[in-house]
Amino acid sequence: MVTDKVSYSECVGCSACANICPKGIISIKQNNEGFEVPMINCSECIQCGLCEKVCPGLNTIVEGDYPKKGYVVKSNELAVRRNSSSGGVFFELAKQIIKQEGKVVGAIFNEENAVVHYIATFSDDIAKLRQSKYVQSRKGKIFSEIKSELEKGTAVMFVGTPCEVAALKLFLVKNYENLFTCDFICKGAASPKIYEVYLKELEKKYKSKAKIVNFREKSLGWSNYSIKIVFENGSVYKKDRYHDWYLRGYIEENLFLRKSCSACKFKGNNRFSDITLADFWGVGKVKRKWDDDLGTSLVITNTAKGEQMLEGISDEIFDEQVPLDIALKGNSTYYDSIIPSPHRDSFFVDIDHNLFSETVKQYAYKGFPAEMKREVRNKLHWIVRKGRILISKIDFQ
Ligand SMILES: Cc1cc2nc3c(=O)[nH]c(=O)nc-3n(C[C@H](O)[C@H](O)[C@H](O)COP(=O)(O)OP(=O)(O)OC[C@H]3O[C@@H](n4cnc5c(N)ncnc54)[C@H](O)[C@@H]3O)c2cc1C
Repeated sequence: MVTDKVSYSECVGCSACANICPKGIISIKQNNEGFEVPMINCSECIQCGLCEKVCPGLNTIVEGDYPKKGYVVKSNELAVRRNSSSGGVFFELAKQIIKQEGKVVGAIFNEENAVVHYIATFSDDIAKLRQSKYVQSRKGKIFSEIKSELEKGTAVMFVGTPCEVAALKLFLVKNYENLFTCDFICKGAASPKIYEVYLKELEKKYKSKAKIVNFREKSLGWSNYSIKIVFENGSVYKKDRYHDWYLRGYIEENLFLRKSCSACKFKGNNRFSDITLADFWGVGKVKRKWDDDLGTSLVITNTAKGEQMLEGISDEIFDEQVPLDIALKGNSTYYDSIIPSPHRDSFFVDIDHNLFSETVKQYAYKGFPAEMKREVRNKLHWIVRKGRILISKIDFQ
């Protein structure tokens, strides 16, 4: 049984075991940190071992030997870039799949604002999938649903974290020609419970239910992105990544990430998608004219299929090949797992008794120089952004 073999610190929360169980006796429950973990009704287990075979925490997949290539890419439609986290490559790839009457699987906010994986069939649907949601998604029975689509011959593009792509591949066992996979450079999976607590605190403050959540709002720039929440009563909350307590706890402090993310098995070249998507952080140092602070993607093609997928959208994007080692200089999370905050465990205890913002504030690093640096950096960001936009306009003329 998978629950005997995989520890909580190795379990990635993919739900592949619950999808494969022929007896349907594996249920997925939230643990006290708010992360999904499998529970098995042992008395009904027939010891078939399938749950162990599909577990990415227990298995390794053999890495392909295709020479990976790096590209700087942006959609040639400004509106697509504005409404995407990076350069809008996901949206352009998704449009192609929908045109072929295929299905696109990624993460959306459901009616309760929880993050769940979802199958999009129509072009209107793919807009819901857009943008990074910094919360671990609920997978439910998505792997079984993908398999039945693949068996019918439908083209399916799956987007998820590197461990979710590995889990899907282990679950499917065989290679499907009609399956296209994208992962992204992944910082780590944040706790759904902490996100819920955060939203509830803001809903109480604004006396209204959250209607739209956007983790990557770009009005202060792509590099200085903000979280924007629109409430049902019309109120709007917006704070940049340095001043919002959720983004600060996730991005800067590593306070509430899943345990397995601190020893991620799917870093560096050990990934199994056709394409890896990412923000091209530091693009201004590599390709100055590309840096207009509206969002630029780094795309890594991991397979020949990935290369074909990128070629398939060549009319919709601007792209240039960039040596991978140079492209990845600004993106250490490609190679390295996060180092969790030393306060992670205390945080998860305290959050049950205290306000979310107060708890993050208590554990956030706040040495005087660091706070000062943050404020100065924020002001400089604004000036640099305006400068870059000016320079990029001159360069393009
Ligand atoms: C949790 C998380 C951590 C990330 N960490 C990094 C990082 O450290 N460095 C970096 O360069 N890039 C990181 N990214 C990727 C980056 O934010 C962009 O998503 C990526 O560059 C693609 O941008 P885009 O404009 O092409 O597409 P977007 O419009 O951003 O589309 C994003 C795609 O990711 C899917 N997705 C969104 N949230 C989730 C989720 N919670 N779980 C599974 N799938 C999801 C969406 O369904 C969509 O298909 C991360 C993304 C996420 C979700």
